[in-house]
Amino acid sequence: MPCLVLAKVETFNPGNSVKDRMALKMVEVAEKEGKLKPGGTIIEGTSGNTGMGLALAAVVKGYKCVFVTTDKQSKEKADILRAVGGEVIVCPTNVLPEDPRSYYSVAARLAKEIPNSFHCNQYDNLANRQAHYESTGPEIWKQTKGKITHFVCTAGTGGTVTGTAKYLKEKNPDIQIWAIDVYGSLLTKYFRTGEIDMNEVHPYFSEGFGEDFVPKNFDMSVIDHFEQVTDKDGAVMARRIAKEEGIFCGYSAGSCLQGLHQLKSRLKPTDVVVCLFHDHGSRYIAKLYNNEWMRERGFLETELSIGDLISKK
Ligand code: PMP
Repeated sequence: MPCLVLAKVETFNPGNSVKDRMALKMVEVAEKEGKLKPGGTIIEGTSGNTGMGLALAAVVKGYKCVFVTTDKQSKEKADILRAVGGEVIVCPTNVLPEDPRSYYSVAARLAKEIPNSFHCNQYDNLANRQAHYESTGPEIWKQTKGKITHFVCTAGTGGTVTGTAKYLKEKNPDIQIWAIDVYGSLLTKYFRTGEIDMNEVHPYFSEGFGEDFVPKNFDMSVIDHFEQVTDKDGAVMARRIAKEEGIFCGYSAGSCLQGLHQLKSRLKPTDVVVCLFHDHGSRYIAKLYNNEWMRERGFLETELSIGDLISKK
């Protein structure tokens, strides 16, 4: 890389991801607004990290949790949520959001059926991006002593990138915000054209980011560029981060750094880039950190381990 690249590593939060920040904020705002009452049930459609943050907040504050997730997500993620007291309902991935079987629809229906329940809805609940405006943004500003020139971050609900960007741009409007997306998501095309093009949407292996709709937490006006990364490049880069930097991070961290790599010709030596690493590698052991999983998808054709070489003899 032509300049200083820093990682804001969010794996040390209690739930091992950046989503702890917005989970607690959504609960606190719901309590303040009287939407979440003592003994109540928190309902959320989550791929795991938000659920973990919510489950921890629920344990401490005495709420029940029901999580609705998809069959694409790692089994470990669902097991972890169950371990901390959550109930997990798994829905099919390849249905449209408005389909009654989708995890969006099931979460909304449960919220109507379960008495004294609160559907967090991380996509449209603006407490999500507010959490990053109040914590992630100020921390990055302080930790770089105001020297940050670029913020690079994968985007799903848009909460992390939007909230952090809003704060940073208020401090210095010249800071460039680069959102990282995956092929199979419609966010990049929407950013460039304003068009919601369902032809862009196809299944992908990357986890936690990319969307097939545009959540309300996005404010595209604070984002300067969207970059798409392939499943393979994100996974390979995550493995490289673990091996070459000793940071055991998740899929989206690999995609984040890969996205930056694709844009490195735009950087100059004096720049200070901050990449946000959303979560921990332990959630992907059966996936991108598993050689069989990688090889089955053609992601590993050039990489052979010492074990592979010995067993071929
Ligand atoms: N990476 C991971 C691992 C995530 O769990 C999420 C949240 N779904 C994101 C990236 C994207 O963050 P956000 O929803 O704030 O855009």
